[in-house]
Amino acid sequence: MSTTTTKKKSRNPLLPRERIKNFTEVNLCYSPELAQQEALRCLECAKPTCTDNCPVGVKVKEFVELIVIGDFLGAAAKIREDNVLPAITGRVCPQEDHCEGKCLLSKKVKPLGIGYLERFVADYEKRLGIRFVPSVQATGKKVAVVGSGPSGLTVAGDLIQKGHKVRVFEALHELGGVLVYGIPEFRLPKQIIREQINYMREMGVEFETDVVVGRTVTIDELMEEEGYDAVYVGTGASTAFTPPTNS
Ligand code: SF4
Repeated sequence: MSTTTTKKKSRNPLLPRERIKNFTEVNLCYSPELAQQEALRCLECAKPTCTDNCPVGVKVKEFVELIVIGDFLGAAAKIREDNVLPAITGRVCPQEDHCEGKCLLSKKVKPLGIGYLERFVADYEKRLGIRFVPSVQATGKKVAVVGSGPSGLTVAGDLIQKGHKVRVFEALHELGGVLVYGIPEFRLPKQIIREQINYMREMGVEFETDVVVGRTVTIDELMEEEGYDAVYVGTGASTAFTPPTNS
C-alpha cells in the first residue's frame, strides 16, 4: 500500500500574520484526504520499529492501515487499546525521539507523520462525538490514583479498561497537572485536556479535586478505611528539591 511519495505531509500551520493576533493552536489538523495520503507512505514493515520504540507500544502499523481504508474511528479505537490520551500525545509526545525517530522510512526520506495521524483520528472522533467505551467485566478491585497529570490519567485509563474501579485525587482545583500548567495554550489547548478527561469520565473514571493525599487523607486511610486495594502515586516533580548543604 505504500506510495513513492517521500515528503511528509505538512500539518498546515497557521500563518505568522494570523498567529500574532491570538494564542490559539498553531498547528492545524490534517484533512481526511491529507491523512490518507500520509498514511499511504507507510511501508507496513514486517518488524515495525515504530511500535518497538513507542513507550506504550501503540500498534502504529495497524492504526495507519485503518486510516488508509478510511476507517478513522477504527483507527482511533486501535490507538486507545494502548493509549487513552491520543489527542494529547498526538500533539505533545516527542515522536521524533520515539516512533518517528525509528521509522524505517527515515533511513531514506522523512519518517511517517505518526503524531499528526494520531492527532487526526483523535480529533475526528471528537468532532463526531463518538465514544469508545469498552465493556469489560468488573473485577471488584478499587484503585486510588494520586495526581491527574499524564501519568495518573494514563494509569487510570488503563485500569478502568481492565475492569477496576478507579478514582483520581488531584491536589489542585483543576485536573490535568503539568498538562494544564506546564504546556502553553498554542501547543496544547486546555479545551483538549478537558475533553480527554470528560472522555475518561464517560469510561467510568471518577475524579476528585482539592484533595492533598498525605494531608487531607493519608494513603493508609485510603487503603484501611476507604477500602482501596491499591494506590498509584503519580504526583510528578512539580516541587523543586533543594539538596542540603553543609554550611
Ligand atoms: S516503521 Fe514507519 S514505515 Fe514501518 S510500519 Fe512503522 S510507521 Fe510504517
